[in-house]
Amino acid sequence: MAKKWIYLFEEVEQAEKYAGSWEGVRGLLGGIGSGLADMTRAGVPVPPGFTVTTEACNEFRKTGKFPNGQWDEELAALKVVEHKTGKKFGDPSKPLLVSCRSGAKFSMPGMMNTILNIGLNDKVVDGMIKLTKNPRFVYDSYRRLIEMFGTTVFNLEDEVFEHPMDEYKTKKGYKLDTEMTAEDWKTLVGTFMEVYKKHVGSEFPQDVYKQLELATKAVFESWMGKKAIDYRKATNISDDLGTAVNIVTMVFGNMGDDSGTGVAFTRNPSTGDKKMMGEYLLNAQGEDVVAGIRNADPIENLGKAMPEVYKQFMDITAKLEKHYKDMQDVEFTIERGKLWMLQTRNAKRTAKAAIKNSLDMANEGLISKEEAVLRVTPEIVDMLLHPQFDETALKTAEKSGAYYVTGVNASPGAAVGQVYFDADTAERMAKEEKQKVIMVRPFTKPDDVHGMIASQGVLTSEGGASSHAAVVARQFGIPCVVGASKMKVDLENRIMEVDGKVVKESEWISVDGTTGKVFVGKIPTVETKIEEQTDLLTLLNWADNLAARPDIRILPDGRKAPGLQVWANADYPKDARRARSYGAVGIGLCRTEHMFFETERLPVVQRMILAKTPEDRKAALDELLPSQRKDFDGLFEAMNGYPVIIRLIDPPLHEFMPDEEKLFEECVTMRVKGETKGLKEKEDLLAAIRGMHESNPMMGLRGVRLSIYMPQIVEMQVRAIFEAAADCTLRGIVVKPEIMIPLTGTVKELEWIQPRLERIGKTVMEEKKVNFHYKFGTMIEIPRAAVTASELATRAEFFSFGTNDLTQMTFGYSRDDAERNFLITYVAEGILPKNPFQTLDRGGVGKLMQMAINDGRKTRPELEVGICGEHGGDPESIEWCHMIGNNYVSCSPFRVPIARLAAAHSALKYSGQKIIEDK
Ligand code: PEP
Ligand code: MG
Repeated sequence: MAKKWIYLFEEVEQAEKYAGSWEGVRGLLGGIGSGLADMTRAGVPVPPGFTVTTEACNEFRKTGKFPNGQWDEELAALKVVEHKTGKKFGDPSKPLLVSCRSGAKFSMPGMMNTILNIGLNDKVVDGMIKLTKNPRFVYDSYRRLIEMFGTTVFNLEDEVFEHPMDEYKTKKGYKLDTEMTAEDWKTLVGTFMEVYKKHVGSEFPQDVYKQLELATKAVFESWMGKKAIDYRKATNISDDLGTAVNIVTMVFGNMGDDSGTGVAFTRNPSTGDKKMMGEYLLNAQGEDVVAGIRNADPIENLGKAMPEVYKQFMDITAKLEKHYKDMQDVEFTIERGKLWMLQTRNAKRTAKAAIKNSLDMANEGLISKEEAVLRVTPEIVDMLLHPQFDETALKTAEKSGAYYVTGVNASPGAAVGQVYFDADTAERMAKEEKQKVIMVRPFTKPDDVHGMIASQGVLTSEGGASSHAAVVARQFGIPCVVGASKMKVDLENRIMEVDGKVVKESEWISVDGTTGKVFVGKIPTVETKIEEQTDLLTLLNWADNLAARPDIRILPDGRKAPGLQVWANADYPKDARRARSYGAVGIGLCRTEHMFFETERLPVVQRMILAKTPEDRKAALDELLPSQRKDFDGLFEAMNGYPVIIRLIDPPLHEFMPDEEKLFEECVTMRVKGETKGLKEKEDLLAAIRGMHESNPMMGLRGVRLSIYMPQIVEMQVRAIFEAAADCTLRGIVVKPEIMIPLTGTVKELEWIQPRLERIGKTVMEEKKVNFHYKFGTMIEIPRAAVTASELATRAEFFSFGTNDLTQMTFGYSRDDAERNFLITYVAEGILPKNPFQTLDRGGVGKLMQMAINDGRKTRPELEVGICGEHGGDPESIEWCHMIGNNYVSCSPFRVPIARLAAAHSALKYSGQKIIEDK
């Protein structure tokens, strides 16, 4: 059977049969065409019409001609429309006018062509004047057709028509189009005809079928117009989709005071409130409402002006909401007392309205709770929880040239402050001068944390999504942009520079951690707090319940299991409390070394590292123990009843020491000046630091290697953990400590260290005469650990994927440098689909994880598995963790709400499915 190129609105069933699904119909007839057809099917009054398919468009694009049969079908469809309307195309005694509108599968507002009033020519104009007795309206319609035809079919500039029209109005002393009389429009039609002939080189076609043919072609061609191509590129819409063309009977809202036109939302799109919001104008055309030429009336007033029509409108919109089960954005026209619906689509809405609307619709029984949770995307939650730049102000700033530089969007939210180039100054300006501060550095180190915490935002020129600055900023919810590599930070002269644009210390900048963009000057922000987001809290509650259903996943051995839990990465009790308030049900990573950087502790830590005798080292460690115990005590108390994973010391020791270069400079200066007091100590320190130098510290003496090399540190840590847990137990707090050994590469490492640590734990429990449940486990951060997981699981009671290191070591990309150099280019060139430090690389890193879970659980079926790398807060990575059988994901407290929602989305998407196994 020959292909069908045209579908009448009432032929939607046929289209559905051909396309196989509603998604397919949308692809075939476009968003508008499928919407009009669907409304027709639902019994909503839609002006009769038909759609030329996207397949016809794609054929046209190949050959430059209508495909065989299209034009005949178009004429036949027009006959049906004539029959339905009782009008006739090109017949002055009962003229049918149509519009010709583009409509692709995905909405591309304003990017393609539309021509209205097709079917008017000199004779039809005369006929219509007789019929309507409204020459002003008819001439106005005619001049619109000539103008639209010239600009869209022949690509004439708008000005060629607008210029003479403006001149005419000025001559007449008119300001508004509404002042134009019938005679005026008639004169202008004459002028437009001349303009058309001059620029096109022929007369305006009086043959209405020619008009229709050229208009259809013009809409097809507009798919490949520059505007449309650019828009598709920016929004990831494929060029292959093509546009449909909708030929729709014209209805007129400007036929007198019993006519009108309007737009409305079935609920409030900014608050989500269940109240119709819209406006209308009597005796006007659609674009008059949008253009704001006259002040429109609120939609409620239509109830007084036309009670019957209003009632019908309210009934129809209620029906549309029910049909689409979503808030609708509708356009309508009233022609001589008859209501026509011209368009309906799911309304665009704010984050707040999206959540309220989902909850309301579930409570009204319109959608299920599952659907309500699925409708709210993690990005919406992100938007609600971080301060954002005011959208209008942001646009104005962009237009006025305030844009400065772009980097990696490391931690979301908007920050505005004065620039300072070191942590001490940043902290001082914030605390003492009460300034709002943005700390700018080439990169940050652990001893910069106090400056970061005091800042509104952080900006670095180096580093990537798992660099120190990024990890710490996310942990504390500080907006952060890293790796803005076009920016040069000149610490000596206290300036930064991008392409000659210099920003000096104390100048204001605005940092958008959500997009990675940085602006010069202040952009206003809008704030939010989670406790105030009651709708969001309800929705997240629903999400948790869905993910916690006991039969959401099927384990390889056939047992049923719930979805993912969400834990948090938190180092301090106050972070743990925040994590709880955001809904975390465990701590998945406490990086204990952060506690060593506290100002009063660092000298003791340094003394401990530099100790020459075991006695000196022990003395320093004894000094550190009480403060570590206090830290852990606070964590257990905040997480009463929930598991707390504490990781033993991980980074290389040199990170705790003063900066080598700075120290060297100090020594040289002292020598030059002849100062001797304290010189020897400094030089000894310098020699010690140099002794610790490693070419590849990330692969050097860190993690479990450091524990084996210098076991006293972790022995102190384990004692502190168990003492704190015992003290808490005695106070009635339920503790669930889990001790995590980082960077393991072979089970032999665990066999060496773990029994010693377990012995300490047992000793403490005996000393304190208490018993509580604890676990020892390890991080999977090295490919070898994943590959030998079955062996590791003989010792480890839990695994936690440290995917920052695992990504680094699997790809062989430095987590600190790659994003500054080639990684961004790799993503831009499509060599990598996404930044693997932000979104898990399923094919490589993800596969290793899958293997580790399978093999680990073969040894230990109850093995608890989590993730604590930065991917633990990324929705796409969370989905993978669900699919391969993680028990939980752990992320920064600020990302916990997003992760809860993402966990529920994964649970719903794969509900009842088997965990995918590595074969
Ligand atoms: C990791 O490597 O993913 C991890 C959580 O550890 P860190 O970032 O502290 O190295
Ligand atoms: Mg790590």
